[in-house]
Amino acid sequence: MAKLDGNNAVVTGGARGIGKAIALLFANEGANVAILDRDLQTAQEVAKGIRELGRNAIAVEVDVGDENGVAAGLQEVTRAFGDIDILVNNAGIDTTSHVVDMPTDMWDEMIRVHLRGTFLCTRAVLPGMLRRCRGRIINISSQLAHKGGAEMAHYSAAKAAIIGFTRSLAYEVAEYNVTVNAIAPGPIDTDLFRKLPEHWRKRKLAEIPMHRPGTVDEIAPTALLLATDAGGYYLGATLNPNGGDVMI
Ligand code: NDP
Repeated sequence: MAKLDGNNAVVTGGARGIGKAIALLFANEGANVAILDRDLQTAQEVAKGIRELGRNAIAVEVDVGDENGVAAGLQEVTRAFGDIDILVNNAGIDTTSHVVDMPTDMWDEMIRVHLRGTFLCTRAVLPGMLRRCRGRIINISSQLAHKGGAEMAHYSAAKAAIIGFTRSLAYEVAEYNVTVNAIAPGPIDTDLFRKLPEHWRKRKLAEIPMHRPGTVDEIAPTALLLATDAGGYYLGATLNPNGGDVMI
């Protein structure tokens, strides 16, 4: 029996990068997977690949910061699969600016996608999880939540807030057999990291003892751990696969 047989999982931002790797690993371990992403076409390709593995999969076009869109998207998932057992709040963006020059829109969009998105998706799946006394919520933070980084104050603030959200919610839902945890990866070789300015990437890789970005396959197994019975005693935790960038 695979580790996630019979589970229905939602992965936001699952069309590419870390989210795609998590979606595929979960499917390989038996889960049905819904990909919520604003890039429908790419999300559909991932869903097709999952169906070829013999699992159920759907792609739903959702902007995680849009309240009505999240509600409608997750209703579509429930209609297709039934109850949601696992939510991975992974959708994310990055931009860079020194605070002194940062446009308000840039700040707001970062908080909207990461923090509001995590809140909206979580709130939408919680009633079902609490009713059934069963659920796993996994929030993707970043090592910048711990360490900060020049030109990324908005991103670091959003990712640190996700850790606070994770811990607080964990207190509220533990007695319902719902766990809430975070993963704070170091720099990972995805489109998001590759799009950062070269000076930023060089500086970051120079700081890390391993001097290389991680791969998506070095992050997805941490999400799998938190989703399975083997990860059942983690609560409000932040796991840190980060190449030694922050040794906690
Ligand atoms: P990618 O850019 O490779 O993938 C992110 C996916 O999320 C894309 O498909 C993107 O769509 C989608 N997305 C972005 N905004 C929204 C939105 N508002 N609603 C729905 N989907 C959205 O990023 P990564 O895989 O690298 O990042 C995944 C998560 O991991 C993010 O939360 C990121 O902050 C975090 N992380 C990444 C690190 C890294 O170095 N790569 C390090 C630490 C944390 P589109 O392409 O259209 O933007």
